[in-house]
Amino acid sequence: MPNYHIWTIGCQMNKAESERLAALFEENGYLSVDDVADADLIVINTCVVRQNAEDRAVHKLQNFKPLKKARPDILIAVTGCWVDSNVEKLKTAYPFVDYFFKAGECPPWLDKSRWSQALPKQPEPATYVPIIHGCNNFCAYCVVPYRRGREKSRPLSEIVCEVKELARRGTREVTLLGQNVDSYGHDIPEKPELADLLTELNGIDGLYRIRFLTNHPKDMSRRLIQTAARLEKVCKNITLPAQAGSNEILQAMRRGYTIEDYRQLVSEIRREIPDAGLVSDIIVGFPSETEAQFEQTVKLLTDIKFDTVHLAAYSPRPGTIAVREMADDVSPEDKKRRLTTLETLQANIVTEINAQLQGKIVEILVEGKQKGKWFGRTGTDKLVFFSDSANHMGKLVHLMVEKTSPWSLQGTINY
Ligand code: SAH
Ligand code: SF4
Repeated sequence: MPNYHIWTIGCQMNKAESERLAALFEENGYLSVDDVADADLIVINTCVVRQNAEDRAVHKLQNFKPLKKARPDILIAVTGCWVDSNVEKLKTAYPFVDYFFKAGECPPWLDKSRWSQALPKQPEPATYVPIIHGCNNFCAYCVVPYRRGREKSRPLSEIVCEVKELARRGTREVTLLGQNVDSYGHDIPEKPELADLLTELNGIDGLYRIRFLTNHPKDMSRRLIQTAARLEKVCKNITLPAQAGSNEILQAMRRGYTIEDYRQLVSEIRREIPDAGLVSDIIVGFPSETEAQFEQTVKLLTDIKFDTVHLAAYSPRPGTIAVREMADDVSPEDKKRRLTTLETLQANIVTEINAQLQGKIVEILVEGKQKGKWFGRTGTDKLVFFSDSANHMGKLVHLMVEKTSPWSLQGTINY
């Protein structure tokens, strides 16, 4: 039996695509192996959103060159956002790679009709379901629209059928994915919205939880917020990247909202969904960002108190508007310092938020076992560990929170 190995870096969309590739390979008789030395097929799923992700992927790829030399029969394939339209150029630069295929496309040696219907590998309790591919936004710093193309929504009925099948196989939680889930459906004749999709999915037997990400502050609707608040299976967790706290920077980033709009939206979410977990992405050191403008991001984090903030230093991406029109003029030292400032601030904020859960009862969906302890997440996306001899896999469990930290909670079972 041939063996396959998939190496993945990057966003949830990449993880979702790797899970689907794995399922297709297994359907074709391949077995998964952890050690590349045992593999007959290696797939590298790349990310280019920042330079360091790109460097890691290319470094990984270079590592496979001697392997291919020693075993020419091994198949090496590269996918993800590193693969651009100029495949010929990539083939010339990396002759030891057998196949390049773009993010989200079917591997060229497999049947295309199977790819569009591929489900993630195995019945995991929680999995990702892409609902809209690509992005139409062209934020000045971002390479994603250049690599993943324009928005394309999947038909609502196709998603509902897929989630029904996943639930039948034992999936209890789905996370609906898109670069901007608020755009879902605008390119379909019936114009379904995310709120309609959530309503349909909420009725699926055997499915316990529904998450969705990423929301765009310029597009998130009141109807969506109210629908998410009302539907019992929709987790009270919203991923709403602010990117910066200064209006000048938001404008230069071409984000399409002001910081006042953003704060207003957060108030509305908190009014409709009390105790909602809030997640944001922030970029520090975008071209021209002054110390005073950075301080406005510090203020945003201090005021809003997000549960999670994904922090990144601006990384110039070839071909983007920012690279074409602006100089990368914030020094690496200033970027690093701003990053550390926010990391420290956010660690303090989340320490405080999580400490408030001490002694409270939380509900988690058990996703697995690590070092002898069960783990799962709350609806607000807090990771919780607990010990118990019974099998809790895929079950909703109530826990009393005994210990908290910025990264995870420890609980005991509460029958
Ligand atoms: N569609 C999502 C996320 C896309 S990329 C959104 O609109 O938020 C994921 C995150 O990577 C972004 O939110 C942004 O914070 C970060 N990012 C994207 N391009 C970047 C760049 N050139 N430098 C640093 N961070 C970047
Ligand atoms: Fe990139 Fe902006 Fe699209 Fe997100 S919305 S993928 S940040 S261009």
